[in-house]
Amino acid sequence: MNSITAVDQEYVAHTYGRFPLELVSGKGSVLTAADGKEYIDLGSGIGVTAFGIADEQWLAAVTEQAGKLQHVSNLYYTDPCAQLAKELCQRTGMKKVFFGNSGAEANEGAIKYARKYSMEKKGNEYYHIITLVNSFHGRTLTTLAATGQDHFHQHFQPLTPGFHHVQAGDFIGLKKLVAQYPTAGILLECVQGEGGVVPLEKDFVQDVAALCQQEDIPLMIDEVQTGNGRTGTLYSYMQFGIQPDIVSTAKGLGGGLPIGAVLVGEKVESVLAPGDHGSTYGGNPVCCAGALTVIRRLDEAFLAQVREKSEYLFRELSKLPGVESVDGMGLMIGIKTERPAKEVVAECMEKGVLCLTAKDKVRLLPALNIPMELLKKAVSVIGEACE
Ligand SMILES: *Cc1c(COP(=O)(O)O)cnc(C)c1O
Repeated sequence: MNSITAVDQEYVAHTYGRFPLELVSGKGSVLTAADGKEYIDLGSGIGVTAFGIADEQWLAAVTEQAGKLQHVSNLYYTDPCAQLAKELCQRTGMKKVFFGNSGAEANEGAIKYARKYSMEKKGNEYYHIITLVNSFHGRTLTTLAATGQDHFHQHFQPLTPGFHHVQAGDFIGLKKLVAQYPTAGILLECVQGEGGVVPLEKDFVQDVAALCQQEDIPLMIDEVQTGNGRTGTLYSYMQFGIQPDIVSTAKGLGGGLPIGAVLVGEKVESVLAPGDHGSTYGGNPVCCAGALTVIRRLDEAFLAQVREKSEYLFRELSKLPGVESVDGMGLMIGIKTERPAKEVVAECMEKGVLCLTAKDKVRLLPALNIPMELLKKAVSVIGEACE
């Protein structure tokens, strides 16, 4: 055991199962370990480093902003925060943005918007939130309650009350819940990420959106993992023909610095008033300056390249012996392998390719600008590891 591994194991809380690998630097989609070995990065820090490691535009914006003003709190105006909110609204048609620091915090904000809207408008019993079985919405006590996977709930009961889960695709079941519980909001991921990279059916999502509109229930889409170009459009909901009332996002938005955002549409934009919600770091100028370089590059031409790389991966991975199926959207891909996913990922790592898992699948979330030549190399390594 090298010394950093030992220090980490002694002093860092044991809440993560780490790979036996210490990373020290990188460039783009190549990571360098402490022993000098290089790895092709197909995980991008769980979908965070959208333009890879030390991306030049991102780095320049972040370092320049850090040298000018690294933080002032939300008591004052700063340019990067305002510009990022404007960019996000103009690109989505949403009206306002609340900034926090993580995906869970973005979902907390989304839920607060939905609850206040519905309770003010319809009465205090309208606090119930419906989410899907197999979803993942975060690790705080409220977003755990929203997460439709029982094993995350163990040891932490009682969670925030008022959350109900229904199977993805079961629209009749969902309507029953809405009839049974005065509903403040419905929250879903268009592609369930931690749940195994499972896209929802378009019809189901559209039915839910129509029901929300009909019943005046805010529709919340969790774009923490699927957002910011990951699925080949700016946000994944754009491929489902719906307009949500609330969008939460994080992961890829900051390109590697912590930022989360709640985008709100016309229905709920004026619901939260001064004092209703806040976050000390929210809208941090360094994080926002970095995020601007991410969002501004996600234009139609760039997103078309993301979709091309996606098609390449779907086509080539599906052909590999030992691969049972390939699922996902854009550069968010889940591979069902004959061998256990953990073994495949371990062998890929040995051979210089870093992949993730999600449930029983091998999950890929490469940087959106990963060069084709690295993707090709990585596919051949995955192929060897799947056999
Ligand atoms: C990762 C994730 C979260 C939680 O984000 P954190 O930044 O870890 O709090 C929430 N929802 C989805 C869909 C995610 O993938």
